[in-house]
Amino acid sequence: MKTQPVLLVHGGAWAIPDDMVESHQRGISRALAAGYALLQQGARALDAVETAVAVLEDDDTFDAGRGSFLTRDGRVQLDALLMDGSNLRAGGVACVERIRNPIHAARLVLDKSPHVYFVGIGAEEFARAHGIKLIDNSQLVLDRERQRLDQAHQMALRGLPDESFSGPPSDQEPPSYTSHDTVGAVALDSFGNLAAATSTGGTLNKTPGRVGDSSIIGCGCYADNLSAATSLTGWGEPIMKLVLGKWAVDRVADGFAPGRSAQDAIDYLHRRLNGHGGIILLGPDGRYGIAHNTPRMAWGVSNAGGVQTGLNAGGVQTGLFRGVAG
Ligand code: ASP
Repeated sequence: MKTQPVLLVHGGAWAIPDDMVESHQRGISRALAAGYALLQQGARALDAVETAVAVLEDDDTFDAGRGSFLTRDGRVQLDALLMDGSNLRAGGVACVERIRNPIHAARLVLDKSPHVYFVGIGAEEFARAHGIKLIDNSQLVLDRERQRLDQAHQMALRGLPDESFSGPPSDQEPPSYTSHDTVGAVALDSFGNLAAATSTGGTLNKTPGRVGDSSIIGCGCYADNLSAATSLTGWGEPIMKLVLGKWAVDRVADGFAPGRSAQDAIDYLHRRLNGHGGIILLGPDGRYGIAHNTPRMAWGVSNAGGVQTGLNAGGVQTGLFRGVAG
């Protein structure tokens, strides 16, 4: 029997300002349309999440691909992971600077390598050897981001905290919910297989070489047909410390609904480490959950019931926490 396909995408969880709402929703809608069209034609979940994330990487609105936040020294450094829930194959790249669509490089790692994860120049060379054209890093850098980095440097000079957390270890929460425009997708295909993908430029003003949760298996991304598929966004360090993606899918395997598990994961993140962020979570039966404890999260869902997009998940609330389930 054929399964009804489902696709969820997100474009970051933070205080998305009113004047950026339209661009976020437009990007989410485009990614959904591209990925869901594939699912309807019988494509695999893995192809759908790769395509949806590539659309978001190509959109300057988001912190992925071109237009990403800059490192402290003014470069774009990108991380991405995708995972196939049918066989647990995964491919990831981190700290790549010369690849326009790191999710395609991650797919090559999954398809063509016995390994799971490549970083830096090794990742770029692997991608080049498998047909990806390397570009100059300047092609990924926008003036908008140069200005944003200048502001972060000014704040640092004035002794004001910024979100880079590039100093000594700190469990202090970043001062604002700015700058979390990472993108991700999870899908269920008509064969009943799950997949997940996440791509990011990381955090603004990050120390070069820093890698966050997004591309780390089980942290910002995970998929297993026997549990669920998930992609996360938000303040990466707490998400990594809790291996939150795997935590969330394991809750589904334990019998909790994806809606409940998504809410629990964000609650746990906040309770345990005062972290903030958002999650999309999809079970093998097509039920899903979306939750965040930031003022807004850009998300969208396509399934047999149609297309839904939003910026506030609505529904259950615990403090700043908001969740939606389907
Ligand atoms: N989680 C990402 C990171 O820490 C940032 C984000 O979600 O925007 O690299």
